[in-house]
Formats: sequence, C-alpha cells, structure tokens
Amino acid sequence: MQRCGLHHSGLGDHYDGIIADGRAYIKRSKDCSPDWDDETRNLHEKIQIVVNGEAYLPPAWFGLFGYECENNLIQLEVDGKWGYCHVDTGEIAIPPKWDWCGPFYGEYALVRTGCPGKLEWGRELPVDTRCGYINTKGELVIPLEYVDGEYIGREGLFIVKKHDRLFGMVNLQNETVIDFCWHRIEPLYESIWNGFVAAANWREGVDETYTLFSQSGELIIGELDETPEVYDTSNIPGKDADEGYLAIKRNGKYGLVEHGRLLQEPTLLWRELLPILDADWEKNLRHIVIHRGTQQIGGCITEIRTASSRVFIDIGENLPRDGEYARMPYVKGLTDECKEETEKGLLLTHYHGDHIGRLGDVVSGVPIYMGKTAKEIYTNLAKRTAKDLLGLIENIKTFKPLDRIQIGDIAVTPLMVDHSAFDAYMFIVEAGGVRILHTGDFRLHGVRGGKMLKMLSYYAKDIDYIICEGTTVSRTGEPPMTEHELGRKAAELMKSKPHVFVLCASTNIDRIGVFYHANPKGRFFVCDKYQKEQLEIVRDGHKDKSSFYDFSHVYDYAPNLDKHMEEKGFCMLIRQGEFFKRVIEKYKDSCLIIYSMWTGYLDDRARSQGLCDFLALYEYQVLHTSGHASLQDLKQVYDTVKPKRGFIPFHTDAPEKFSEIIPERDLILLNDGEKMLI
Ligand SMILES: [Zn+2]
Ligand SMILES: [Zn+2]
Repeated sequence: MQRCGLHHSGLGDHYDGIIADGRAYIKRSKDCSPDWDDETRNLHEKIQIVVNGEAYLPPAWFGLFGYECENNLIQLEVDGKWGYCHVDTGEIAIPPKWDWCGPFYGEYALVRTGCPGKLEWGRELPVDTRCGYINTKGELVIPLEYVDGEYIGREGLFIVKKHDRLFGMVNLQNETVIDFCWHRIEPLYESIWNGFVAAANWREGVDETYTLFSQSGELIIGELDETPEVYDTSNIPGKDADEGYLAIKRNGKYGLVEHGRLLQEPTLLWRELLPILDADWEKNLRHIVIHRGTQQIGGCITEIRTASSRVFIDIGENLPRDGEYARMPYVKGLTDECKEETEKGLLLTHYHGDHIGRLGDVVSGVPIYMGKTAKEIYTNLAKRTAKDLLGLIENIKTFKPLDRIQIGDIAVTPLMVDHSAFDAYMFIVEAGGVRILHTGDFRLHGVRGGKMLKMLSYYAKDIDYIICEGTTVSRTGEPPMTEHELGRKAAELMKSKPHVFVLCASTNIDRIGVFYHANPKGRFFVCDKYQKEQLEIVRDGHKDKSSFYDFSHVYDYAPNLDKHMEEKGFCMLIRQGEFFKRVIEKYKDSCLIIYSMWTGYLDDRARSQGLCDFLALYEYQVLHTSGHASLQDLKQVYDTVKPKRGFIPFHTDAPEKFSEIIPERDLILLNDGEKMLI
C-alpha cells in the first residue's frame, strides 16, 4: 500500500489517498456526499476496500471529481511524480512519471519535466523546464519543447510559450499557427465555442494593443484597444448565449465579429453598435434605408423596416438635372416582386412628382396611403396627365392628420405640414420602440408655417431619428420671403394693371389662395374648369377649418365672361398651352403676367422647354417663394425635436452643409441604398 495524492488542479481540489492493487482510493469521510442515483452509488460501493477498519472509495466519490474529470481521468501524484487514474474505478491509467501534469481538457493534458509541482504565477522557471501535451493514452502529441502551455478548445490548437517568454500557438502536428511574438495569448473562454483567441502585444503599461485571431489561427483584426467583449446573445431568437458576438474596439470606435468573421469594421460609436447587438444581424433587422435621395433633390424613396414589416415613404421621380436621370433603384418587394412574409405599406407625403412620380412602378399587393384631400387633387390631376394610373390611384387608402396607421408592427402617424403641395405630411414612424420623424417636404414660412414648430413640439416627442429634407441648404442668401409678404407684393403688383395672369402650379393651393385674397375687390378670379375643380375640392373639404380656403368666388373661363373681365378687371390662373395663349392674346396690351413657380424650370437647373417657349412670347414678372424650409428654419426644427440618436439629411444636393447647423455627433450622412440599423 502506497500513499498518493489525487488532484484536479483546474478546480483547485485535492485529497490524499492510497494505492492498493493498482488502484487509487480515498478514505471515506463525512464530506463525501455525491448526489448519485442508487445504481451509480452501488457501483462505487462495490469497488470500495476496507483497510485497518477504515473504508476507502474510488476518487469519484469525492467533491467534484466525479463530474469534472474529462475522459474520466484524474491527476494522480505518487512520490512526487504525476500521472492519471480512472476517476470511477481508481485504476491507474497513465503511470506517474511526469514532474507535473495538468487536468485533461478535451483529449489533451499538459505535462512537464524539470520543474516539479504546480506552477505558481510569476515563478522563475528552471532552464531545463520542458512542457508538452499528451493524449489520453499517455502518448506525447506535442513534444517537450516548451516552458508552458494552454490547450484552448476542440480544434487541436495549443498556446505554448518558449524560453524567450513569448507565446505562440501550434497545432497537433506541432506546426506554428500563430507566430511566437506575443507577450500574452488568452483564449476567450466565454466564447470558446465561437472559437476566438485574443493575443496581446503587451508591455507593462505601454502600448498595450490586442489582436484577434480565429480559433484556427487566422488573423481577424489587430491594433485593438482592449480585449474583445463577448456580448450575450441569449435574447436573440435562434441564437445561443455562447454564440455571442464579439464587440471590438479600435481608436475608441466599435465593430463586430461573429464566428471568426468581421461583420463590422470598428468605425461605429457604441450607441450605433448597440442596435446591432440587440438584433440578429441577418434576420431580425430593424433599419432605415434611403433607397434614393441622399444626395439629390427628388427621386425620394425611404424604407423603415423591422423583422416583420416594411414601411416605404414616397416613390419619387428624379428632378432632371444636367440632362440625366439617376437610375431607378430596384427595391425588392416594392418595385420588384419578391416572396416574403412581411407586412408592407407605401406612404405618400404629398403629390409632387419627386415623391410620387414612380408610383406606376409599385408592384401589386403593396397598400398605398395618402392624405384624403391630396388623393382627390391627385386624382383630378391624373385625369389630365396620367390616365393610366387612375385605377391604381383609386385604390389608394386615405388618412387624415393624426390617424394612426398600423402596418404590421410599425405604426405611422401623419402630421400635416406647410408645403407648396396641399394636404402634405410628415410621418412619425414607430418601429420596435424606435421613433423616427420623416419630414417629407415642408417649410415654416408658408401660410400655415407659423404653427409648425408648435405642432412638432406637441406631437414629435421622444424622437430618436429625424430624416429631414434639405432642399435649400445649398443655397445661400436672404431668408425666404413668406407667403404673407408675397401676398402683399402681389396686391401691389395687381394694382398696377387691371388684367393679371398668374402662371402657377395648379396644385399649389396655398399660393393660389394668396393670389385669390390679394386680388383687389370687385375683380374677377378666373381659371379653367380643371383648376376650378381643384379649388372646389379644397373648398369643400377645408373651408370650415379656415376661410382662407373658401374659394367661393372663382369663375371658370368662357368667352362670354370677357366683357365683364375687361370691364371689372381680373386675376386669372394660367398654365402653358394654347387655350391660355388665346386668352392672353385678348389682353396683351393691358395685362401683367406673373410667373409664380420655381425659376429652375426656366434655367439650366431643370429647364422646361415648353414653358420657356410659352413665356418667350410675353413679358412677365417673377413672384415666388420656396416651398422648402431655409437652413435656419431647419435648425429650428432640429432644436425643437432634439432627436436622441441622430439627424439624417435627404432630399438635398448638399447633405454635408448640415454640419453648419447640426452637431457632428448627431449628423448621420447616408448613401443611397445604405442600410442603417436602428
Ligand atoms: Zn414637394
Ligand atoms: Zn420634394
């Protein structure tokens, strides 16, 4: 009978025992109380022996030995030499011959010669210390060439250290997988199934940078600020906690690694990374994409989506610029059929072509929504300009201000805005707890502009992101004329001539209202039948709310009116075309023509040849103001809404100009089609 020690150095657990008949035993004592079932208990009791009246049991009977010994092998120490015995039977499996050996991890255990006992941290190693790895048969698989080592997982890779104190990694063939140039290599145990190893180029307190390798030793990324942080993914459907993402950090910016794959370069702020960590990268995406419009005025298509729902806002045509049209993006599920199980909806902010012009491209089955009056105006317009779309337009669902529109798990609330289109909207989009304000087109200097900031401060609370139009930011100069001022100027001009023609968009209802009210008393307000219908739509729907829209004294032109018009004076709304040309001819010598549209249609910005040809015949005055907010007004909107996470410009040809009014930390500049996780 021989004395022995039984150890699990990984657990810091050990007992003294004896060896009898080639088996190791431990003396039975009060603290041996494993909660085995009867069968296992019987098995071990059968193996017990009695020596000098005392019972001795196999090692498994004690502490955690029974559970924690991989391959059922437990470290056995006899006369200062270490080997292994079977934890359940006590049979000696690998005879003690090493100066020390470690517990088995997987199929391998570290063995050492030349330095007896457990190695204390920082202890100076004798020069003849040699370490290697054995397998469960006790055969050396990594030769005794190293001074220390650590087996890191299931891939047959070993962190080993050479006498120059530098660490590297070798495989089962003892081939170098990570060069021996590291002051420290640490396995990321929390993510060991994910298989990562961080190697630190470490000198005491100086230049501590970290490099991340995959478990197969491939370099993933270097120069990191700190050890990658394993992020718990147990709350993500379809993911286990130990499949966690690794958040990496370099120069204060964060990125992401998953399964040895660099998903995101370290270029994000932590707050930008958080939504990614909260969501499944591939499937549970919640994001904003501006498919078109990040760097141009017009052509807008925005998408906000969750895992189960997609909300599109606008589907606009490009404004012609430099004679070119940017490519229409194929948006799967909106302009391209695609099989998917998501709820979808397309919301239209207003009926301007740069927001609605590609409506014909929408695949069937996507519900479309727009303001009730806007739909009526647009239908009436389409009867003249886009008959082929009438069927589609007829099916558009309508909403009123502040209606809550539910599209799957996304809720949208429309806020009516001031713009050169009537019944135009901003949208508050709520997607998975994130609140986004999409401004569409708007301004603060129109007839109802004064109420805008008040409305925003009341309804646009707790906004995370603003997606904001920036039509005017590239223009410099005076603040825009208000519609009220324009009205005063119109009244002045009208006094100068009895016969006034106003060339104006038929759907710019507020502008028409301004001329209607500026028209001197007693004079006729005239237009064609179509224009009158447009004004009647607005009158019928809105005169109760505001007398500004009470277009009760509007005449549609017929030659029998000429006598009265000539006599009393008039203001007539016109558009380019032969019909109006003939009327103007009659008053050519006594009339004033006011051009009240964007001058870009007359110059190189978005030249309309037909319009230029029409106007070439006459002298005219320009009296116009923008339908879009000025840079200063955009700042006021930002200051009022105070988005918590960011400000995203669109509908602008100079997004970077926003840096003049938006703090850098909030300004998010996207490219067309770029997915931004939220
Ligand atoms: Zn517009
Ligand atoms: Zn627009």
